[in-house]
Amino acid sequence: MLTLKIAAAFDGDVIVAGAGPAGAAAAAHLADAGFAVLLIDHQQFPRDKVCGDFVGPAALLELHRLGMAALPGYRQTNIIHEAALYLNGRHLITHPIPRVAGMPAHGRVIARKALDQWILDRARAAGARVLENTRVQGFASDAGGVSVTVKGPAGRATLRAQALIGADGSSSVVARLLRGHAVPDRNRIVAMRCYMDGLPDTGNRCDLYFSDATFPGYYWLFPTGPNAANVGIGMVRETLPRNEEHLRQRMLQLLTSDPALRARLGNAQLRGPVTGWPLTTYDAALPCVGRRVLLAGDAAGLINPLNGEGIQYAMLSGRWAAETLIAARARDDFSHAGLLPYAQRIERELRFDMALARLIVQLIRNRHLTPLWLEALHIIVARARADPAYADITGGVLAGLVPARRVMGADILRKSAQQAVLSLAGMGAQHLLRGRAHCLRLGLRTGTAAAGVALSMAAHPRAALDWGLGVAGSALELGGGVAGALLRPGAQEHTPAAPDYRSRSIM
Ligand SMILES: Cc1cc2nc3c(=O)[nH]c(=O)nc-3n(C[C@H](O)[C@H](O)[C@H](O)COP(=O)(O)OP(=O)(O)OC[C@H]3O[C@@H](n4cnc5c(N)ncnc54)[C@H](O)[C@@H]3O)c2cc1C
Repeated sequence: MLTLKIAAAFDGDVIVAGAGPAGAAAAAHLADAGFAVLLIDHQQFPRDKVCGDFVGPAALLELHRLGMAALPGYRQTNIIHEAALYLNGRHLITHPIPRVAGMPAHGRVIARKALDQWILDRARAAGARVLENTRVQGFASDAGGVSVTVKGPAGRATLRAQALIGADGSSSVVARLLRGHAVPDRNRIVAMRCYMDGLPDTGNRCDLYFSDATFPGYYWLFPTGPNAANVGIGMVRETLPRNEEHLRQRMLQLLTSDPALRARLGNAQLRGPVTGWPLTTYDAALPCVGRRVLLAGDAAGLINPLNGEGIQYAMLSGRWAAETLIAARARDDFSHAGLLPYAQRIERELRFDMALARLIVQLIRNRHLTPLWLEALHIIVARARADPAYADITGGVLAGLVPARRVMGADILRKSAQQAVLSLAGMGAQHLLRGRAHCLRLGLRTGTAAAGVALSMAAHPRAALDWGLGVAGSALELGGGVAGALLRPGAQEHTPAAPDYRSRSIM
């Protein structure tokens, strides 16, 4: 039986389930504010976590807030100044990480074994009690507190606290109990990664690769140091038609078949296994607070489904959860209503971004339409090449640095539409110049492809209907926000009320 009594009735003010970036950041902020915190993880640290290891500027800002930029290990990590995009082995664009006022103008690649240990140490140094090898199995809230059932080396125990933060990752037990069900497949992305050594020269550039074969998904190369990299692939789980291919096989094959990736890897060798992990995307319909309970990070589905980035949202939501509990204690109100400001904050800061990302993912999960989506990518890239300000905003949104409402602004939409007209007109002119017979062949090919799409959708009517409903639902969810943003005067420069981050402008 665990004996961590700090007061007659409680084992701690707050119990945090999960000591990843979300839980450890929350514990550090709460302990800084004088809370008695129990931080519980079922693993022993330092532990590895399957991840691309890319830590973007917004996450770096959170690390700076916790004073971690001064750590010698942190300063030795690889800095990333730019990102490149490839399609079917061909280079599309390389662009610097957008400079956003108040944020570092770079990212870093930090192995999770180190990063998560640093944040955990920071929480411990602030006074949080850490219980490793201890699994949270359930909880029950009542008017006087929350009881949390745990199983550790000494057996089962029930701990009592004023509040619980569920930061136990993408298969969160706390989220499942709060919501009454497991994560639906449509909210899942599967991803795998491996480490490679012996690269010719990794430099300070991250690469993202798209291809017909792997869409709707992408693969990446993030340099971890001078001659080493984290290489991985991510894909939405529910596609139409279903993707039966094994992701690990696909990834191993890409290492040798994709010309751009192969050029970057040279004679690099695999170090260790190829390992996978699921990601959970945000679903605004699902609660992230209950009586005395809040969800943070992956447990709340705070992943940008466009780029798989979640560390920044984990650290931010960990801090927001802590700030909400600090205010709740001042009012002595840990009720559902008392914790709702946390959900409202997520909504205010992130919901629009998540809704846009969700709509895009809904659209691209229909693999019949892959040529269309890849053409859209070409159009966006063509504009970005000619217009650095456009590239900063679209790239900034992709990296989660700039609020997504900026791409829905009239100016960016107009530029994208202009580019689409130019690109399509250019393609049309090229085809016309190649003669009548070529145009007839092209028409035939397009008609055959369209018929193929229709037939294939007819062969999977249930899946096609689900897809259509999913698109409509996501469009409706986004619609309210877009209408508000576009109708409001000065909408493009609008920043949300009481903004916390990313309200800063691109420099
Ligand atoms: C292949 C892959 C690549 C990715 N690449 C990137 C990237 O490059 N950049 C980026 O920003 N994000 C990336 N992500 C997402 C990122 O890894 C997550 O968003 C991030 O780890 C979320 O942090 P967290 O603290 O919420 O959860 P986690 O980091 O998952 O931490 C959860 C913790 O809870 C513990 N736990 C789980 N269940 C229990 C339980 N019942 N009781 C006690 N403890 C429990 C776990 O042991 C773990 O330590 C990637 C994800 C994957 C799968």
